[in-house]
Amino acid sequence: MTEIIPHFVAGRRVAGSARTAPVYNPATGKQTAAVGLASAAEVRGAVEAAAAAFPAWSETTPLRRARILNKFLHILEERGDELAAVITAEHGKVHSDALGEIQRGIEVVEFATSAPQLLKSEFTENVGTRIDSHSLRQPLGVVAGITPFNFPAMVPMWMFPVALACGNTFVLKPSERDPSAALLLADWLKEAGLPDGVFNVVNGDKEAVDALLTDPDVQAVSFVGSTPIARYVYETATRTGKRAQALGGAKNHMIVMPDADMDQVVDALMGAAYGSAGERCMAISVAVPVGEKTADELIARLTPRVRALKVGPGTDPESEMGPLVTAQHLAKVSGYVDAGVAEGAKLVVDGRGLKLQGYEGGYFIGGTLFDDVTPDMKIYKEEIFGPVLAVVRAPDYATAAKLINDHEYGNGTAIFTRDGDAAREFAHSIKVGMIGINVPIPVPMAFHSFGGWKASLFGDHHMHGPEGVRFYTKLKTITSRWPTGIRAGAEFVMPTMK
Ligand code: NAD
Repeated sequence: MTEIIPHFVAGRRVAGSARTAPVYNPATGKQTAAVGLASAAEVRGAVEAAAAAFPAWSETTPLRRARILNKFLHILEERGDELAAVITAEHGKVHSDALGEIQRGIEVVEFATSAPQLLKSEFTENVGTRIDSHSLRQPLGVVAGITPFNFPAMVPMWMFPVALACGNTFVLKPSERDPSAALLLADWLKEAGLPDGVFNVVNGDKEAVDALLTDPDVQAVSFVGSTPIARYVYETATRTGKRAQALGGAKNHMIVMPDADMDQVVDALMGAAYGSAGERCMAISVAVPVGEKTADELIARLTPRVRALKVGPGTDPESEMGPLVTAQHLAKVSGYVDAGVAEGAKLVVDGRGLKLQGYEGGYFIGGTLFDDVTPDMKIYKEEIFGPVLAVVRAPDYATAAKLINDHEYGNGTAIFTRDGDAAREFAHSIKVGMIGINVPIPVPMAFHSFGGWKASLFGDHHMHGPEGVRFYTKLKTITSRWPTGIRAGAEFVMPTMK
């Protein structure tokens, strides 16, 4: 009997009554479960549960809300291994990497536990004679999160800890490819004392997403996923009057200046291009060495390291890189490598067709390295989302920077150099949301905010940190005059303070 992964509504796991989709272990290629795909009516049930829980939760003091998140934080810290095992079983990433994503999620929960501080408002005494003004940040109501497969715990935790801390109730629609982590998070929030209905999970596909995007009770939508769907989610949600932030795909470049520390560069590129099999929105997928000498040295040093990558199941502590998430994604990534060869890029290391003994059905591909990639090639323009690094040679810094500024995506980027002048110029003028200077994956910490530019983000707010608090709250400004006994007489002109 195949296990059917349920939903989590109003504080309990509920079986789906609609369609299902298979869930696989990517290391073996074997189906391990099926996931219920919620119908529009099932989504409506989850939104109703969240709407019913909102009045009491929004009136719960920020300190009490924070205390529940604090208990949740302790559970996460104690049982991270259990959650990481669930992630590895459905996503495929190596266990230590799964622990890393949980840690980054934990940091957002830590940030959210300072809700009383985050929600402190501004007050000005005497904006007019005996008139005071103060501002409030109030919760929006029911908010929804729609998340991708590649971080089944961290990306939901970019969203719901801040949303809940601010007094909203939440409906999460995780990726149907690795849905179990979200259910574990829901169980643990309940165990931490979260009232029923405050956090709900509906598993599903486009039908569930569309139901959330058009539900009149959903006030705001946070999305992370590929750019075409991000654009669709943003346009649909805003058309129905919702606040929306939709983070999309990426093609992150790393400029390697001639003066860079090459040992540092090669180590950084190995982790940033091949960690998590390249299935990270902050992965470096394009290296841009400046000058032929830099490029030749980079290729010479990278090649043996890419060939030596230890690819294996995520449960093996020796593995540096696990499988891709699905058979379809493996076919897509291999297809990009075929396209690169056909377009004339130089295939230096070919990871296609990798078969591992005992895991012949797994979705494995080895680390792949292309040299002499040019900006007109499909493998340069499009997001591959696999362990494929393209080297684009640039004659000078200006050409390298122009490549980045002209690219459709603007999520993250990095420069490796010892030259402070070049680094400052890069940070100041590059058209990308998150910049690393001798840091390959510049993911902002939880108390800063995460988000890209251009086709990597639709909307005005980045996630978590101060931007997260702004996204999940409405601003209200109150002007009051005491004592009421003072008579100013009727005024027919705009009140001013001349
Ligand atoms: P995806 O766009 O296929 O799916 C994301 C979510 O959208 C899932 O919950 C999925 O069920 C839903 N969805 C899929 N097709 C839909 C449709 N037609 N209509 C409505 N909803 C739909 O993305 P993915 O493959 O799960 O994740 C990988 C992508 O996510 C990559 O492009 C990666 O760059 C991006 N990503 C971006 C960031 C970021 O911060 N910018 C972070 C992580 C991942």
